[in-house]
Amino acid sequence: MDKILVIDDSSVQTGFLNSILKDDYELIICHTAKEGLETAVLGGYSLILLDIVMPGMDGFAFLKELKSMELTRYIPVILLTSLSDVQYEERGLLLGAVDYVTKPFNPVIIKARVHTHIQLYHYQMHFKEQAMIDELTGVPNRRRYDHESAARWKEAVRFGLSFSVCMFDIDKFKLYNDTFGHPAGDKVISSVAQQIASCFKRSTDLFARYGGEEFVAVFLGNQADSAFEFLKSIRQSVEDLHIPHNSPVSPWVTVSIGGVTKIPQAGEKPEDYLKLADTMLYDAKRLGRNQVVWASPDGQQWRER
Ligand code: GH3
Ligand code: MG
Ligand code: MG
Repeated sequence: MDKILVIDDSSVQTGFLNSILKDDYELIICHTAKEGLETAVLGGYSLILLDIVMPGMDGFAFLKELKSMELTRYIPVILLTSLSDVQYEERGLLLGAVDYVTKPFNPVIIKARVHTHIQLYHYQMHFKEQAMIDELTGVPNRRRYDHESAARWKEAVRFGLSFSVCMFDIDKFKLYNDTFGHPAGDKVISSVAQQIASCFKRSTDLFARYGGEEFVAVFLGNQADSAFEFLKSIRQSVEDLHIPHNSPVSPWVTVSIGGVTKIPQAGEKPEDYLKLADTMLYDAKRLGRNQVVWASPDGQQWRER
């Protein structure tokens, strides 16, 4: 059942809305905007019904806050207005509310508008998610990587956490396509992506297809040596899939990995880390492939072989 957050200081109004909507939706009721905001960030709401005139924080201030947070900005908001509040209504819509219903409430109109906006919200979320997923592999795509790596970087800077970035590239993959055909190559990209994705289990981990037969991952909080060990085990797990390859590197499909772990310093950018990871990957290829090369915080290079 979809969850609706109702924010109105009048118990008469919230009681009435509850009686209209309770059979079809789960309603959570807050009597102040502040409480409403604290509730909205907990997540899971498909719609907010918002009164404008309330003591303390009003509906406008609430809307501004709601729209400023990534976590809550997509939740549709329907304003609850009195007929005399036309200029308020205008301001609310300009601040990003999707619709309004006028008091006294007409139950049929409320139900219809609530239903429509919840449906639109689900469509929007579905397309938003699809646009961030790589079609071939089902893992996050480059767009999602660009979007989320910036957020991870901010978290690392804010909490003083180490930031690790690594690049993966399937070895001698042109040769694979030439030998087994492009459709078989597609299946390999997919299997390798899923294998690596299954290793990144933390909610803050980010793994994505960067393009072609290349992948990228970002994770927070590891020491460089533990990151290096972790990536060695991932590299081994890909080889252990035992996907046959006609390559001078190994009888199996393998990946080379380059990465870096450091605590972000003032003036640094996440792109610097990605570039360094790419340089490490280049060295892993140069040194014979099917191996991990890692840049440690003190500027040393750790090699698997
Ligand atoms: P290296 O070990 O140096 O990485 O050699 P490589 O052959 O893997 O490197 P190169 O960059 O020369 O070739 C990458 C190949 O990956 C060429 C391209 O046809 C193939 N490729 C890229 N995207 C896809 C895809 O979506 N599907 C398939 N089947 N092949 C792809
Ligand atoms: Mg490549
Ligand atoms: Mg390659």
